[in-house]
Amino acid sequence: MYFNNIVETIGHTPLVKLNKVTDGIKGTVLVKVEYFNPGNSVKDRMAVKMIDDAEKAGLLKPGGTIIEGTSGNTGMGLALTAIARGYKCIFTMSDKQSKEKQDILKAVGAEVIVCPTNVAADDPRSYYSIARKLNAEIENSYYPNQYDNPSNAQAHYETTGPEIWAQTDGKITHFAAGVGTGGTICGTGKYLKEQNPAIVSVGLDTYGSVFKKYKETGIFDEDEIYSYKTEGIGEDILPKNVNFDLIDLFIKVTDKDAALMTRRLAKEEGLFVGWSCGSAVFGALEYAKEHLQADDTMVIILPDHGTRYLGKIYNDDWMREQGWL
Ligand code: PMP
Repeated sequence: MYFNNIVETIGHTPLVKLNKVTDGIKGTVLVKVEYFNPGNSVKDRMAVKMIDDAEKAGLLKPGGTIIEGTSGNTGMGLALTAIARGYKCIFTMSDKQSKEKQDILKAVGAEVIVCPTNVAADDPRSYYSIARKLNAEIENSYYPNQYDNPSNAQAHYETTGPEIWAQTDGKITHFAAGVGTGGTICGTGKYLKEQNPAIVSVGLDTYGSVFKKYKETGIFDEDEIYSYKTEGIGEDILPKNVNFDLIDLFIKVTDKDAALMTRRLAKEEGLFVGWSCGSAVFGALEYAKEHLQADDTMVIILPDHGTRYLGKIYNDDWMREQGWL
């Protein structure tokens, strides 16, 4: 038995019980370990779906160039898909993303353009603006725009949601995921809530991001926006893929709490995962401490792999420089 190419191996990731970091919590806490995808992240799922849908709509033609603004993981999924189908890739990335993510994308043949983080999203130097500009200039190019592209959430509606429902035998009561584009939490959450509307969906946000305040007040508060270090979650924009009706509440997690929890996941659970996994687990467990009952089952998405953060949160010197060790 074999797959025709690496892209066909995307999905069907395992669900694993947390045993140590959940000490004192009632109920069962399971994590969906998305680094088992070939690009080592949850974003493989939506990358291949965005390309499938673009091909069907005639937006991406043979020999074309895929241009995307990415924190790294979407880029990896797109690059793997591009290799299987003969496209070129150009990615714009903000300079706060780890060097490992840039190098990984280059390793699989993509061109990477690093853009400044500390400029507004509509500034011509931002990684969003540069991606749009390249798309306008380069012939036969396609800009998936993961923030607003409905194929993103749809990928999770079609794969992540049904997998979790089947893996928990329909016993899931709480679902938690970090929110960046919103595709993971809203696509998965939509499917799960359709099966059982009582399922509670918890979104994890960062300090420096607009989501939590927007959910609670309906106000897009520019004062909430400041730079932070956690990669992949929190935004200074409201992506169309974030459907606030599908997220029951948000919890903000600090960079430090997330980093320390990520290191505990590696050492105490053997889960060598990425930084936003620590955000997701730390925030979800804060909620679980107060609300989870003995027969409840919570599922938390762990988006990516630890190798991408070896130079940062898994590096003791770097951690000491932050004052976090
Ligand atoms: N964690 C990491 C490491 C990510 O790269 C992303 C994608 N931005 C997320 C979490 C959030 O996923 P989503 O974009 O589906 O909300």
